[in-house]
Amino acid sequence: MKLELLLVLVALLCVDGLPLSSTGTRNRNKLLLISFDGFRWNYDQDVHTPNMDQLVQEGVKAKYITPPMITMTSPSHFTTITGRWIEDHGVVHNMMFNSTTLLKLTHKNTLRRSEWWDNGALPLWITAQNQGLKTASYFYPGGGVNYSGQAVNRFLVQREGHPSDNVTEWWEKIDTVMGWFTKENFDFVTLYYSEPDNVGHRVGPETEERKKMVQQIDHLIGYLRESIQKNNLSDNLNVIITSDHGMTTIKKNPQVKEIRLSDYISFLKLTHFDILDYGGFGMIRPRNGKLQEVYDQLKNAHPNLTVYKKEEIPENFHIAKNGRIQDLVLVGDLGFNLNSRVIFYVNKGDHGFNNQEMDMKTIFRAFGPDFRKNFLAEPFDSVSIYPLMCKLLGVDPAPHNGSLSDTQAMLLDHTDPGKT
Ligand SMILES: [Zn+2]
Repeated sequence: MKLELLLVLVALLCVDGLPLSSTGTRNRNKLLLISFDGFRWNYDQDVHTPNMDQLVQEGVKAKYITPPMITMTSPSHFTTITGRWIEDHGVVHNMMFNSTTLLKLTHKNTLRRSEWWDNGALPLWITAQNQGLKTASYFYPGGGVNYSGQAVNRFLVQREGHPSDNVTEWWEKIDTVMGWFTKENFDFVTLYYSEPDNVGHRVGPETEERKKMVQQIDHLIGYLRESIQKNNLSDNLNVIITSDHGMTTIKKNPQVKEIRLSDYISFLKLTHFDILDYGGFGMIRPRNGKLQEVYDQLKNAHPNLTVYKKEEIPENFHIAKNGRIQDLVLVGDLGFNLNSRVIFYVNKGDHGFNNQEMDMKTIFRAFGPDFRKNFLAEPFDSVSIYPLMCKLLGVDPAPHNGSLSDTQAMLLDHTDPGKT
């Protein structure tokens, strides 16, 4: 009889893989995911960042992580929150577009359009809510739309023209999120900052302004740590700090011969739709019957330009299967922007380049009650952040492309390899 009771107890304690506290009771810690847009993997190495250094002692640092190809803000953030490759989640660009109607919406306008994001892959907010958790998104891309008619419990969406470098607001966002955890009992919050991406675009990554921005972010991380202690969340809040892609200096005349596609093709005669002038990644839909002609003219046009027909797209890009990928995909070598008709491009830095380039790699840090301390993790793909978050929250994951084995060793309690 006693043995039976014990077995029942053990079965109850093991159910659904929730983390167990030292007393053996179910203990679901809260989770905060913070993304600093465009934080290249090594931005903390040429500037004094005492708070980030302290985090290395107190938690986990990956040497770097690899974002998905396409290394753009919305596609990459949506891979992090869904654990799906871009061909599976369908958010293939920062801009919403339609290559038939020629519609194009800016990134900020796209953030409120469900039809761009809701393609069948459920983000973690929704999956967690469906399992009884309370979730929120503060400016995180994809957090402001509906998925199968379902919205995130609490969301704020960044609007066009919203200043990215208002440090007072940076700190207030931390206060707001702390309140969500302590006063309203949210379980999972995603928090997004659009720096240091903006400064990287505007003045380039190898500049004093970028270094200053990284120092401001480091101060903010110090404030985050203080706030967690002040709000008595140290023992039940895990934090992951990451980003969506890196940044590289754009190469310009006369240092290099820039890519200008109208030197090689007539857009007017040969193309129906294009999405170019947006960093190192672009797509073209030729007019009917003109695919081969455009391809032939671009194929060897410029030594730093690679053109793929759909069937030639490398499998490790994980983009080819999606219907939003156009007939021709163009990728510039690192630092070569894809200019279409004229070179008016003002950005000093950009991304969108091949995710295997070190300048496109980004950061991963984590700390909190479920993470080991002073642990240096090997590099992994950002698609594997999703199963880690599910594990931390005790959520049954939706189908995904990540692997918990990439991150399992970071966790203190990994006696249960889990079902992710
Ligand atoms: Zn970004």
